Amino acid sequence: MSTTNGTDRPLILVSNDDGIEAPGILALTNALMPIGDCFVVAPSEEQSGASHAITIRHPVRAKSVSYQTEVGQIKGVSVKGTPVDCVKLAIDQFLPRKPDIVVSGINQGPNAAINTIYSGTVSAALEGAILGISAVAFSLNAWNGGDFDASQEYIRRIVKTVIANPLPPGVLLNVNIPDVSAEHIKGIKVTRQAESRWQESFEERIDPANRPYYWITGEFVNLDEGADTDLVALAEGWISMTPLRPDLTAHDMMQSLKDLSF
Ligand code: MN
Repeated sequence: MSTTNGTDRPLILVSNDDGIEAPGILALTNALMPIGDCFVVAPSEEQSGASHAITIRHPVRAKSVSYQTEVGQIKGVSVKGTPVDCVKLAIDQFLPRKPDIVVSGINQGPNAAINTIYSGTVSAALEGAILGISAVAFSLNAWNGGDFDASQEYIRRIVKTVIANPLPPGVLLNVNIPDVSAEHIKGIKVTRQAESRWQESFEERIDPANRPYYWITGEFVNLDEGADTDLVALAEGWISMTPLRPDLTAHDMMQSLKDLSF
């Protein structure tokens, strides 16, 4: 395997949005330790839904951590900040060199369809891509519990393949894993993001001082009937792999917008 410093052992930056103590990041690190040097830089507390937020109005505290797992000693930094803070800090401050890949996850819950855009897990990988590093986000299709270890072989295969074939600048992979046992994973399918939205509703509650507060709830609405989406692949037991990029430009609108002659 060729790496950015020419050694055989790639340097893998691991982050997430569920927090450094979440089971998913431990599973991801355990899966990848056999194929690279993993360095974990992750939020000290859960940051799900943080999307691409960064901390700019107060200092970011960070603490070195080291813990023993069944696979070996994991080294890292726990950051009181967002997933994107973690990736930026790791690359600027904590890593001995530019990593060969940024991986994020394994998230508790799918980051498919429109969930992709709210996800701190995806944004950690997206930040890697913006900084010119190959990046992959991993999420498990289970909102609670689930088997984070069933996909180990696939995770290693994906990460090895991406290191050997770096992604074009600005592109990342969004990988969603079905919550089934290893032998029931059908394989990997390249998909596109399903069109969808959340039908929002908020619950109004009253705090002890008699002031109202609101808690977001909502219902997920799939607006996409295509057979080639992330949602369909996941539902059928495939690992869904969607290439993403940070350029949000609606390129197909360029001409019609020009034609409006503002
Ligand atoms: Mn999360």
